[in-house]
Amino acid sequence: AKESGRSRFKVFSQRMHDQNVRLLELETELRKSLERDDFVTLLQPIVDLDNKRLNGFEALVRWNHPKLGMISPAEFIPLAEDTGLIHPLGEWVLRNVCSTIRDWEKQFPPGTPLNISINLSAKQFVQPTLIPQLREILELTGITPSNLRLEVAETVLMNHASIAIEMLGQLKDLGISLSMDDFGTGYSSLSYLRQFPIDALKIDRSFISRFGEDAESQVLVRSIISLAKNIGVAVVAEGVDTDVQSAMLKDLGCEYAQGYLFARPMPREKAEALLRGDEVL
Ligand code: C2E
Ligand code: CA
Ligand code: CA
Ligand code: CA
Repeated sequence: AKESGRSRFKVFSQRMHDQNVRLLELETELRKSLERDDFVTLLQPIVDLDNKRLNGFEALVRWNHPKLGMISPAEFIPLAEDTGLIHPLGEWVLRNVCSTIRDWEKQFPPGTPLNISINLSAKQFVQPTLIPQLREILELTGITPSNLRLEVAETVLMNHASIAIEMLGQLKDLGISLSMDDFGTGYSSLSYLRQFPIDALKIDRSFISRFGEDAESQVLVRSIISLAKNIGVAVVAEGVDTDVQSAMLKDLGCEYAQGYLFARPMPREKAEALLRGDEVL
């Protein structure tokens, strides 16, 4: 028994070692890729549930490594956070998205839904250079600031509540739109939530995917929607991938949705075809 315990440990530590080697390798590659511009931002449509019309997009970054292939943000964002590489990467995403918005504002008539949301991770959100950096990029591109939306997770905002309220206020002063992402995973109270100057709440995908199967998630989603209405912010349901989910959300008064049912994250050219009306959702 002792023998097998030891060999099991050997296998375990070998695996740990492999994992560490993979992480180290990824970190080195991430640095190189930042210099080579090996990233792309895909855009996932957000639709108005009333008429299934386009309302805007969420930018989702992809690492397109020449040898390793496409790497999911679920794998490299945590690594980028741990190594501090999230800062140059985040800046790349910001500049990339703002220049897309700038091109679109020149190209499309007023009234076209050109807004794009960007995800900010915890480290990016608390970085003191965020505000001056955004101010610089807004000036440089000359975009309408409200066409840029920033998404910050509920848990990030709640973990640093007083700083967060202050930071969100500064972002609002720049004219940027704000969403609280992955809502429902933390436990924000109504009175607390009122203090956050946000424009929208995004209901976490985990509740939407359990929707229809368990009553509990339905109760929760219903209460998030009424809470949002109470404080006057928009609600976006993420990860909607069935007609049933979409219909139930609409019945509950949810205004916006995003998910594979409507569209997967897509390259910029395809998003432009949607905006031109050459393609439909
Ligand atoms: P998130 O902000 O919650 O983004 C939603 C995720 O759900 C995306 O995964 C999207 O592709 C996926 N999704 C959308 N609709 C559906 C659906 O109907 N079904 C299913 N199963 N999935 C759906 P993705 O692109 O892999 O992104 C994962 C996470 O990585 C994001 O979660 C976000 O937290 C982070 N992330 C992505 N891009 C960036 C970025 O530019 N900066 C930072 N800091 N984080 C990012
Ligand atoms: Ca998001
Ligand atoms: Ca989300
Ligand atoms: Ca989520």
